[in-house]
Amino acid sequence: MIIIMLGAPGTGKGTVATILQDKLNIKQVSTGDIFRKEIKEQTELGKLADSYISKGQLVPDDVTVNIVKERLEQDDVKNGIILDGFPRTIVQAQELDKILEKENKKVDLVINLTTPDEEIIERIVNRRVCSNPECKTIYNTLLNPPKIEGICDKCGSKLITRDDDNEETVKRRLKNYFELTSPLIEYYEKQGNIYTALVSKTINKLGKDVAEEIIENIRRSMN
Ligand code: ADP
Ligand code: ZN
Repeated sequence: MIIIMLGAPGTGKGTVATILQDKLNIKQVSTGDIFRKEIKEQTELGKLADSYISKGQLVPDDVTVNIVKERLEQDDVKNGIILDGFPRTIVQAQELDKILEKENKKVDLVINLTTPDEEIIERIVNRRVCSNPECKTIYNTLLNPPKIEGICDKCGSKLITRDDDNEETVKRRLKNYFELTSPLIEYYEKQGNIYTALVSKTINKLGKDVAEEIIENIRRSMN
């Protein structure tokens, strides 16, 4: 099964993807995580990615598509993948369709998360992530705090704030989202495989609630 997580930064893509990975046993692959790992290891790719990410810009399509293409060739995603943060442009979506088509595969489900803009900024500046690369659990100091401040509930590692989670960069990322990524909603509506869910405190619904809803839908459709 090939699942895509779509939505502006801070809507809960990573949270939903992680829960789906654990419950459905499908590997989550986040292009943002791949870039952050490369940046940490100071590889050539990392340096290139950082020059865009630190400014809140998208990494160029050719670079990003190549990374995903290589990742899709690995054994652990042969039976399925949850792509978290890819595609983010129409070009990326078209390239992905071409790659999948060669293997007689297609995008099965697009999960589109929406959150009111004013909530997004609040969610992102209060976001904390587990520093353990094997864990990467996401918290929010207001909405979903860890049991012990600054410590991951799951693995006990330190929680950190991402470098790009500051208000200035977030505004740039939101602008990019509306200009470059949101046209993908229509792209996948035409393919007929999109599921849209509102994630918002105004309706008391967080990423984990949406994940449960989706798991139930998938299980029902399989029976
Ligand atoms: P968020 O969804 O909160 O913005 P991500 O971890 O998905 O966080 O991405 C972090 C940054 O990595 C993005 O702001 C962008 O610069 C870069 N990035 C991630 N995925 C892509 C992609 N598919 N295309 C281009 N750039 C990307
Ligand atoms: Zn952890």
